[in-house]
Amino acid sequence: MTYVIAQPCVDVLDKACIDECPVDCIYEGDRMLYIHPDECVDCGACEPVCPVEAIYYEDDLPEQWSDFYKANVDFFDDLGSPGGASKVGKIDRDHPLVAKLPPQAE
Ligand code: SF4
Ligand code: SF4
Repeated sequence: MTYVIAQPCVDVLDKACIDECPVDCIYEGDRMLYIHPDECVDCGACEPVCPVEAIYYEDDLPEQWSDFYKANVDFFDDLGSPGGASKVGKIDRDHPLVAKLPPQAE
């Protein structure tokens, strides 16, 4: 089980959650952040600090964003488990589900 970042983060990515994560498992894509499903220790520290309520425990992910579970998992297909987001830095791409979204700015 893991925490998942969903659509409200797209084009916001203020990174408030990154500062809370004790294991540095929240990785930065181009338009959204992604939680590494194997590195996340399910502590829940990131969830309350997100200003747009984009972070959910896997089982609590709203139905309309259910695809984001797979987006968070698949994002790491070719990255494997780097063991820390800060040393990887920004990753200049997104999962196709995110990349195809129109600009989300309000
Ligand atoms: S639940 Fe904890 S370990 Fe998982 S991403 Fe959030 S802060 Fe990091
Ligand atoms: S705190 Fe929320 S909006 Fe900000 S980067 Fe994290 S998931 Fe995205």
